[in-house]
Amino acid sequence: MKIYKSYQIVIIGGGLAGLSAALHLSQANLDILLIEKHPYPNHKVCGEYVSNEVLEYLDFLGVSPFEVGAKKISNFEVSNTNGSLIKAELPLGGFGISRYALDNLLYEALDSKIDVVFDTVKSVTFSNELFTIDTKNEIQFTSTYVVGAFGKRSNIDTFLGRQFIQNASPWLAVKAHYTYDFPEDTVALHNFVGGYCGLSKTETDVVNACYLTTYKSFKRFGKIPEFQENVLAQNPYLKDFFENAIPEFEKPLTISQISFEVKQPVEDHIFMLGDSAGLIHPLCGNGMAMAIHSAKLFSEVFLEASANGNIDRKEMEHNYETLWKKTFSKRLKSGRKIQSLLLHPTATRVGFSIAKLFPNIVPAVIKRTHGSTI
Ligand SMILES: Cc1cc2nc3c(=O)[nH]c(=O)nc-3n(C[C@H](O)[C@H](O)[C@H](O)COP(=O)(O)OP(=O)(O)OC[C@H]3O[C@@H](n4cnc5c(N)ncnc54)[C@H](O)[C@@H]3O)c2cc1C
Repeated sequence: MKIYKSYQIVIIGGGLAGLSAALHLSQANLDILLIEKHPYPNHKVCGEYVSNEVLEYLDFLGVSPFEVGAKKISNFEVSNTNGSLIKAELPLGGFGISRYALDNLLYEALDSKIDVVFDTVKSVTFSNELFTIDTKNEIQFTSTYVVGAFGKRSNIDTFLGRQFIQNASPWLAVKAHYTYDFPEDTVALHNFVGGYCGLSKTETDVVNACYLTTYKSFKRFGKIPEFQENVLAQNPYLKDFFENAIPEFEKPLTISQISFEVKQPVEDHIFMLGDSAGLIHPLCGNGMAMAIHSAKLFSEVFLEASANGNIDRKEMEHNYETLWKKTFSKRLKSGRKIQSLLLHPTATRVGFSIAKLFPNIVPAVIKRTHGSTI
């Protein structure tokens, strides 16, 4: 084992949170390393609808999703398991872009301003005010600060013994791109028994279909095509989609053990960003905006503290934690409530009847899980 290099900040994970923090902090004269498992570009399981609340901030970071063809999305539709449909205008709107393109845009904007290493972090320990980070390729880094942006579930969570990782989670997700006739200004959320499926267009004109379901529902069929045919297709919108859409991937991407349990924004002195700090239910379509927003919160806290020339770690941890909770806790709570309602057949039926009578309810519910422009 050799000591490779020492940094002021090491960012573990180069998804939206890690890349945004790297870009923001790179504007100051800091010695930063980003460690990411997978080279860019790569596909990720995600609904690929991004709330407009982060557009101005992305612009500040030098990232323009519309330059690569992101679709402007202003309409929302949601159907229940029988296909009863409600349409609404999105309060703030958003855009459709694949993670393949978006993460890569952020990475390219970094333009070698900081060091990036493609490797998997195995361990991160804190002692005597210094972090030691070991990677799979047997490289050792040290740093004064560590940013944890390693997503919803990582080997590092296991290494740190984080609470949520001890419990099995009932959720799995499936995603793929398809050619299908679908309006580019719309994001749809179609319910099926035991889950829901999001549809929206990306920059390449394909439709991204991404669904979340439980093992309990899935295991009755065990295979994706059978599950889609027997369960998702009970919703007429999904039936039409899966019968007529042409797959663009050889096979869908899947992830499992998706946990929505409460996490902490600072653990073991690591500043947690994005999903590492907490994952909002995907139906809210706000996780990416929250990941990017959390990078802004942390970067501002860090830059303000370092401008004083004498960083007080304890105070900085307290400031970030307070700000994170104030910004996101309510949204996460609302997301949990909405998801449990949506997956409860009677509650969904009643909710749909009420929303048909009072259509303003839908934008009001969406607002509870979103923020305003950052
Ligand atoms: C089914 C589903 C659908 C969703 N749909 C939407 C949607 O439509 N809109 C929306 O806004 N949000 C959506 N989300 C949420 C959104 O995907 C996440 O909130 C967002 O990706 C969080 O970004 P992140 O940077 O925190 O994590 P990630 O994007 O997951 O990035 C984490 C990175 O860390 C890296 N990493 C992990 N461990 C290590 C390690 N040990 N060493 C080095 N690197 C490591 C990974 O390779 C990865 O690149 C959805 C989520 C799910 C599960």
